[in-house]
Amino acid sequence: MQHVDNCIFCKIVQRQIPSQLVYEDEEMMAFHDIHPWAPVHFLIIPKAHIASMAQLSTEHTALVGRMMVKVDVLARQEGCRPYPEGGYRLMVNTGQHGGQEVHHLHLHVMGGPRPWSKG
Ligand code: AMP
Ligand code: ZN
Repeated sequence: MQHVDNCIFCKIVQRQIPSQLVYEDEEMMAFHDIHPWAPVHFLIIPKAHIASMAQLSTEHTALVGRMMVKVDVLARQEGCRPYPEGGYRLMVNTGQHGGQEVHHLHLHVMGGPRPWSKG
Protein backbone atom coordinates (compact mmCIF):
# COMPACT_ATOMS: atom_id res chain seq x y z
CA MET A 1 0.00 0.00 0.00
CA GLN A 2 1.39 3.37 -1.02
CA HIS A 3 1.52 5.97 1.77
CA VAL A 4 2.93 9.49 1.80
CA ASP A 5 4.95 10.59 4.84
CA ASN A 6 3.49 14.03 5.49
CA CYS A 7 -0.12 13.11 4.58
CA ILE A 8 -2.53 13.31 7.51
CA PHE A 9 -4.97 10.79 6.01
CA CYS A 10 -2.14 8.30 5.29
CA LYS A 11 -1.29 8.68 8.99
CA ILE A 12 -4.90 7.87 9.89
CA VAL A 13 -4.77 4.78 7.64
CA GLN A 14 -1.59 3.64 9.37
CA ARG A 15 -3.07 4.39 12.84
CA GLN A 16 -0.34 6.95 13.52
CA ILE A 17 -3.06 9.44 14.45
CA PRO A 18 -6.47 8.48 15.84
CA SER A 19 -9.81 8.74 14.08
CA GLN A 20 -13.40 7.97 14.88
CA LEU A 21 -13.85 5.04 12.56
CA VAL A 22 -17.08 4.51 10.66
CA TYR A 23 -16.01 1.71 8.31
CA GLU A 24 -12.89 -0.07 7.12
CA ASP A 25 -12.04 -2.78 4.64
CA GLU A 26 -8.90 -3.70 2.73
CA GLU A 27 -9.11 -0.76 0.32
CA MET A 28 -11.02 2.07 2.01
CA MET A 29 -11.69 3.73 5.35
CA ALA A 30 -14.44 6.01 6.62
CA PHE A 31 -14.16 8.22 9.71
CA HIS A 32 -15.83 11.26 11.25
CA ASP A 33 -14.73 14.69 10.08
CA ILE A 34 -12.95 16.45 12.94
CA HIS A 35 -14.83 19.71 12.20
CA PRO A 36 -18.32 18.60 11.21
CA TRP A 37 -20.56 20.94 9.18
CA ALA A 38 -23.65 18.84 9.70
CA PRO A 39 -25.06 16.48 12.36
CA VAL A 40 -23.65 13.61 10.28
CA HIS A 41 -20.33 14.36 8.59
CA PHE A 42 -17.83 11.67 7.74
CA LEU A 43 -15.18 11.11 5.09
CA ILE A 44 -14.58 8.08 2.89
CA ILE A 45 -11.00 7.66 1.67
CA PRO A 46 -9.03 5.09 -0.30
CA LYS A 47 -6.30 3.54 1.86
CA ALA A 48 -3.78 4.04 -0.94
CA HIS A 49 -2.64 7.63 -1.32
CA ILE A 50 -4.36 9.32 -4.26
CA ALA A 51 -3.93 13.09 -4.03
CA SER A 52 -7.27 14.13 -5.55
CA MET A 53 -9.87 13.49 -8.25
CA ALA A 54 -7.30 14.89 -10.68
CA GLN A 55 -5.08 11.83 -10.23
CA LEU A 56 -7.82 9.29 -11.01
CA SER A 57 -7.44 7.07 -14.04
CA THR A 58 -9.21 3.99 -15.38
CA GLU A 59 -7.26 1.74 -12.98
CA HIS A 60 -9.24 3.38 -10.14
CA THR A 61 -12.70 2.87 -11.67
CA ALA A 62 -13.63 -0.17 -9.56
CA LEU A 63 -12.27 1.28 -6.31
CA VAL A 64 -14.10 4.58 -6.76
CA GLY A 65 -17.24 2.68 -7.72
CA ARG A 66 -17.05 0.65 -4.52
CA MET A 67 -16.52 3.82 -2.48
CA MET A 68 -19.61 5.37 -4.07
CA VAL A 69 -21.69 2.28 -3.39
CA LYS A 70 -20.73 2.52 0.31
CA VAL A 71 -21.99 6.10 0.65
CA ASP A 72 -25.69 5.36 1.14
CA VAL A 73 -25.11 2.33 3.38
CA LEU A 74 -22.76 4.24 5.70
CA ALA A 75 -24.89 7.41 5.67
CA ARG A 76 -27.87 5.45 6.97
CA GLN A 77 -25.65 3.59 9.45
CA GLU A 78 -24.49 6.97 10.81
CA GLY A 79 -28.02 8.27 11.26
CA CYS A 80 -29.06 9.89 8.00
CA ARG A 81 -32.75 9.34 7.27
CA PRO A 82 -33.42 7.36 4.08
CA TYR A 83 -33.96 8.93 0.66
CA PRO A 84 -36.03 10.85 -0.33
CA GLU A 85 -37.13 12.67 2.84
CA GLY A 86 -33.69 12.26 4.43
CA GLY A 87 -30.57 11.91 2.34
CA TYR A 88 -27.23 13.69 2.48
CA ARG A 89 -24.80 15.80 0.47
CA LEU A 90 -21.78 14.21 -1.20
CA MET A 91 -18.85 16.57 -1.82
CA VAL A 92 -15.37 16.11 -3.25
CA ASN A 93 -13.26 19.27 -3.06
CA THR A 94 -10.55 19.22 -5.71
CA GLY A 95 -7.58 21.57 -5.93
CA GLN A 96 -7.24 25.14 -4.71
CA HIS A 97 -10.31 26.47 -6.49
CA GLY A 98 -12.28 23.48 -5.19
CA GLY A 99 -11.32 24.33 -1.61
CA GLN A 100 -9.27 21.17 -1.09
CA GLU A 101 -7.16 21.33 2.08
CA VAL A 102 -6.12 17.71 2.56
CA HIS A 103 -4.48 16.28 -0.54
CA HIS A 104 -5.57 12.68 -0.11
CA LEU A 105 -8.79 11.91 -2.00
CA HIS A 106 -11.85 11.96 0.27
CA LEU A 107 -15.60 11.96 -0.16
CA HIS A 108 -17.44 14.19 2.32
CA VAL A 109 -20.81 12.73 3.34
CA MET A 110 -22.98 15.27 5.18
CA GLY A 111 -26.52 14.79 6.42
CA GLY A 112 -28.93 14.99 9.30
CA PRO A 113 -31.55 17.61 10.13
CA ARG A 114 -30.92 21.16 8.93
CA PRO A 115 -29.82 23.87 9.48
CA TRP A 116 -26.14 22.98 9.05
CA SER A 117 -23.29 25.25 10.06
CA LYS A 118 -22.27 25.70 6.39
CA GLY A 119 -24.13 24.98 3.16
P1 AMP B 1 -11.09 19.38 2.23
O1 AMP B 1 -11.24 20.86 2.30
O2 AMP B 1 -12.13 18.74 1.36
O3 AMP B 1 -9.69 18.95 1.90
O4 AMP B 1 -11.47 18.87 3.67
C1 AMP B 1 -10.59 18.26 4.55
C2 AMP B 1 -11.45 17.84 5.72
O5 AMP B 1 -10.67 17.01 6.55
C3 AMP B 1 -11.94 19.01 6.58
O6 AMP B 1 -13.38 18.98 6.63
C4 AMP B 1 -11.31 18.74 7.94
O7 AMP B 1 -12.16 19.07 9.01
C5 AMP B 1 -11.03 17.25 7.87
N1 AMP B 1 -9.93 16.80 8.70
C6 AMP B 1 -8.69 17.33 8.80
N2 AMP B 1 -7.93 16.63 9.65
C7 AMP B 1 -8.71 15.62 10.12
C8 AMP B 1 -8.52 14.55 11.05
N3 AMP B 1 -7.34 14.38 11.67
N4 AMP B 1 -9.54 13.72 11.30
C9 AMP B 1 -10.73 13.90 10.68
N5 AMP B 1 -10.98 14.87 9.79
C10 AMP B 1 -10.00 15.73 9.52
ZN1 ZN C 1 -2.32 10.17 1.87
